[in-house]
Amino acid sequence: MAILHPANSTAMRTLRLRRSTARGDPVRPALAPLLDAHRTAFPNADTGELRRGYAVAERMHRGQLRNSGAPYITHPLAVAMILAGMGLDTTTLVAALLHDTVEDTPYTIGEVRADFGEDVAVLVDGVTKLDGERWGDRAEAETFRKIVLAAAADLRVLVIKLADRLHNLRTLRHYPAHKRARYATASHELLVPFAERLGIHVLKREMDDLAFAASDPAAHDATGRAVRTALRQAGPVFGPAMALVRASLAGHGVEAEVRLRPSHLYAVHQASGGDLAGLRPGEAARLLVLVDGTDRDCYIALGAVHAALHPVPGRVRDHIALPKDNLYQSLHTRVISPAGDPFEAIVRSRAMHPVAEYGIVAHIRAACDGAATADAVAGRRDLVWLSRLLAWQSDAPSADFLAGLRADLAAGNVAVFTPDGEIVPLPAGATALDFAYALAPETGHRSIGAVINGRLAPLSAEVRSGNVVEILTDPGAVPSADWLDFAATVPTRVHIQRAVARRDAEEAADAGRRRLVRALAGRRVDLLAAEARGDSLAVARDLGFTEIDEMYGALASGSVSLDDLLNRFARA
Ligand code: MN
Repeated sequence: MAILHPANSTAMRTLRLRRSTARGDPVRPALAPLLDAHRTAFPNADTGELRRGYAVAERMHRGQLRNSGAPYITHPLAVAMILAGMGLDTTTLVAALLHDTVEDTPYTIGEVRADFGEDVAVLVDGVTKLDGERWGDRAEAETFRKIVLAAAADLRVLVIKLADRLHNLRTLRHYPAHKRARYATASHELLVPFAERLGIHVLKREMDDLAFAASDPAAHDATGRAVRTALRQAGPVFGPAMALVRASLAGHGVEAEVRLRPSHLYAVHQASGGDLAGLRPGEAARLLVLVDGTDRDCYIALGAVHAALHPVPGRVRDHIALPKDNLYQSLHTRVISPAGDPFEAIVRSRAMHPVAEYGIVAHIRAACDGAATADAVAGRRDLVWLSRLLAWQSDAPSADFLAGLRADLAAGNVAVFTPDGEIVPLPAGATALDFAYALAPETGHRSIGAVINGRLAPLSAEVRSGNVVEILTDPGAVPSADWLDFAATVPTRVHIQRAVARRDAEEAADAGRRRLVRALAGRRVDLLAAEARGDSLAVARDLGFTEIDEMYGALASGSVSLDDLLNRFARA
């Protein structure tokens, strides 16, 4: 190795960086912005995992191209970058880098688990399951259930999926035109609502506008023009209003920042119903009052706003006392500017602001920063978000089903899909065999193997939440006592034990009967005739058996002696 001269170390590093990049070493300029963004949120983050994740993803996707012609790796890198910008943790970013490897390259989920650990594997697996194309025409409720289930495994799955969709929408111009509109519409109908339910408004707003631009370019452009024109006139409307509000807040002793917030185009389009003629500044922007203080200070701030500007009656919404389903908290009111232009004002504390903008992401971030109890807190808060998700559209899947599912999930259970999209809840640790018996005992008895997420797997393979499992059966197959080694649920074990016991009993009865036939033939007694006359049943009943086969089985096992039976048949 060359000796590093301290005086030249910077130059040396630069030189080495250039050289190693050319050779494809892990020091890659493409990765630098991601590492920087991550270190901004987590100064002590171990970037080694990110480098490793990138190296694997880059190697696996090498040779694949995006529609734009760019190397495929630019996509997972951009997704990770979106998430890093939102302050997500290392595990999420590594999973984002790898999110398309299992679906699109030979890299398996088992390799992800071995190389990057269980947490990353759960996330990659969840995102792979959520791949939109495969569900195509499935009913909405099914898709909804799958998304909820993937979210149940770890809410970060859904966050990665949303960032994935956001980047695809950003690069939608490279798609063929007919796919563009369909993709945009599907995003609006399915994923944008989830972004909203998770409270990730920063993602929701951008996805809204990108999907809007793709599905209705003319309306999007017209809205953009109208909003720009309206905002150019915003000064005379909002300037005096903001000055009044600031003075009133100071007069009420509330520390707060007052900002103007332009609305996003899709929101304006929806609110205006497409009628953009003479769009007013109050329809293109809102006032945000960020309070340095408590909930109580927010109500005082609302009073200050109303003291400064005339409120529109009946337009106050108290989302502090009654948070929205996505845990969003703010006070909303509609006021009228000195010039007579109505507009919305939103009041919230600085503590409410991250959840209002980032929703679940703010909560994940807080959990990552937190103390030793962060896991426990995160678990509880995750359940709150999940229960809100489940409560949403509760009429689509039945409420009973969801309540049961929630209980199962809370108890650490897994939920597995049939190829038809039916959900089968199982305890954690359940195997493909347990899944087969849960479908129907006969399916379990006849099972010979499984296909898990499109790959052949033995019956002993453990199934995980969100797995799509198909059971291979053979009409001639029979349960084996060996199966008890990997039967994880009580019903499965009972089914197998009963089936094995039944088969053992049948075999014993056959063996016993054959022995009796031979012995009776020596005494010129025909067992078949004795059975037909009812003699055999009479002897069995005398001995306390209900069925003839039980007696034959007892003979085979030695609990009834052959001599005793021969004497009884001779007397019969
Ligand atoms: Mn992707």
